[in-house]
Amino acid sequence: MNTLGLHGMVWVGGWSEREAREAIARTAEAGFDLIELPALDPASFDVDLTARLLEEHGLRAVASLGLTDDTDVSSTDPDAVARGRAVLGDALALVRDLGGDYLGGVVYSKLGRYTEPASPQAVENSRASVAWLAEQARRSGITIGLEVVNRYESNVLNTHDDALAFITDTGADNVVVHLDTYHMNIEEPDFHSPLRGCGSKLGYLHVGESHRGALGTGTIDWDELFTAVHDVGYDGTITFESFSSAVVHPSLSSTLAIWRNTWTDGAALARNAHDFLMKGLGDSRQPGH
Ligand code: MN
Repeated sequence: MNTLGLHGMVWVGGWSEREAREAIARTAEAGFDLIELPALDPASFDVDLTARLLEEHGLRAVASLGLTDDTDVSSTDPDAVARGRAVLGDALALVRDLGGDYLGGVVYSKLGRYTEPASPQAVENSRASVAWLAEQARRSGITIGLEVVNRYESNVLNTHDDALAFITDTGADNVVVHLDTYHMNIEEPDFHSPLRGCGSKLGYLHVGESHRGALGTGTIDWDELFTAVHDVGYDGTITFESFSSAVVHPSLSSTLAIWRNTWTDGAALARNAHDFLMKGLGDSRQPGH
């Protein structure tokens, strides 16, 4: 069975003690196995408190982030690359200290809109930084996931083919493709061929609706997606990611252009998502489907 995860921004936009308690307790209550921490500022987390709460609620954690203009490892400014590697190193330490085994997201470029294509030098700087990150991660048994995002959120990896070629070029065996249905809906031809194309290199899956609201209320072809999960035998983590202006993160909400409420009740949203995933994954496992 797949591990089912929930993104922390279903509950909270920060990680004060109150927010950490709320996010971890409610993720466990909604039936999920794992919480994905939005670690855009990884050094700001109270690791001891978070580790204690995870243990108390029997939950595992992974972390994800996107870099910024100032920390873009695909930049041709060596200082930006160095700042980016420092943030990635902090995120890796956070995952390691929480006993996690996965760090993903847009760890290979800025998360945000570029106004021109990535130059060969930009791609090479990104590749070298991901190879460096993978080497650091290997020492702690951590896998690095490259989240493939749409054209408005990076100019380096927009399709699963981009990611597969990039991973080959890093030469690292602990780097995987992280797919997200929200982005696939914009850049891929369908919801089946990217999973098939990635095969064993698919290491993490975000499920998000076409408008990033509740599962089943947008235009994602969930039947096709669940069939693909079954057909390729993907048994890794599946994490529900959703954003609404009901929960605001100081930087991520604006970066992702979350301007409206797609929901207000995180508990109802999370329960619905868990039921939706259990049913979809269960149905796709029925004989003859
Ligand atoms: Mn995602």
